[in-house]
Amino acid sequence: MARAAVLTSVGAPLEVREDVEVAPPGPGEVRIKTGASGVCHSDLSVQNGTIPLPTPIVLGHEGAGTVVEVGDGVTNVAPGDHVVLSFVPSCGECYTCRRGQNYLCEKSQMAVMGGLLDGTTRLSSGGAPLHQMAMCGTFSNETIVPAISVVKIDNDIPLKIAALIGCSVLTGVGAALNTADIQEGDTVAVLGCGGVGLNVIQGAVLAGAGEIIAIDTFESKLELAKHFGATSTVKVGDAGADAVTAVMDLSAGRGADVSFEVIGLGPTMEQAINMVRSGGEVVFVGVPRMDVMLNLPAAFTFLYLNKSIKGCWYGSSVVQRDVPKLLDLYREGRLMLNELISREIDVSDINDAFGAMQAGEVARSVVVYE
Ligand SMILES: [Zn+2]
Ligand SMILES: [Zn+2]
Repeated sequence: MARAAVLTSVGAPLEVREDVEVAPPGPGEVRIKTGASGVCHSDLSVQNGTIPLPTPIVLGHEGAGTVVEVGDGVTNVAPGDHVVLSFVPSCGECYTCRRGQNYLCEKSQMAVMGGLLDGTTRLSSGGAPLHQMAMCGTFSNETIVPAISVVKIDNDIPLKIAALIGCSVLTGVGAALNTADIQEGDTVAVLGCGGVGLNVIQGAVLAGAGEIIAIDTFESKLELAKHFGATSTVKVGDAGADAVTAVMDLSAGRGADVSFEVIGLGPTMEQAINMVRSGGEVVFVGVPRMDVMLNLPAAFTFLYLNKSIKGCWYGSSVVQRDVPKLLDLYREGRLMLNELISREIDVSDINDAFGAMQAGEVARSVVVYE
């Protein structure tokens, strides 16, 4: 029996179940003993309905663990291997993977069903199936995932560190290094300094940005942002500054070269567009609700001011290439991962961790399994 935090319906607190049955891995699947799982804003977004997924569901998609069993035909990993779980499977063979857009792997489309590649789940409780977020379900101490959703790593990396790579680091650092085209000395603005935003900031440092303007409503997050490489901070919200005016003031009235929106709200997405200079680049990283629409002056935004807007899914990552690359940067001391972990928690503390995330108290809470 596995122990897992389950979302039974949208809006409900997560329930810890001790009776979760884990079916054997099917062909092309692997059984994972979860080592650790970050608590990400997207988990909260499933709970509050921003990301629609079927319930009941085991949340958690930022994980790392040990392979304990492999199904037929699995050749990329073997029992005993440590792996990072990728919340987007990467088959390497489909139309998009063959074009280097593994983050859009066609095999990932079934994830909306809340199951694995064939749409069915391997977890159940009391005889009823439990869906698995992003084909993962890392809020369980054991899970079954597609073999194309894991990347083998060296065993010297602690699993609680490796777990963070699976979502926030690949997404944030990837947004800066893969999606955006940051030039040496550029002024970069980052709207939203949670776990992903902090990684955008350290990615912008690696990309050679000259000025990095961090924008958030929480002073605590802005302090963290400075630690991760922000050169100026702007506190917005009640009695705070206007984000666009502040960025203009900090960039000789020109606007930033590149802006990142890492929140997923219509108004901040429009601010991200308005705070870049003519010819500037806007990267959307935050996950908006399905009903968020943007209303833009088409001629000014795109033609006369020549701005470009890029969507960023999973940091435009090729996980087989980028996971080892990020771990090398960590070993070289150029990527701060230990510093992302604010709290280590038990899976039964998930609801408190959601609260701490909303209150801006943490960069990351990480569930650590025995
Ligand atoms: Zn995430
Ligand atoms: Zn593919």
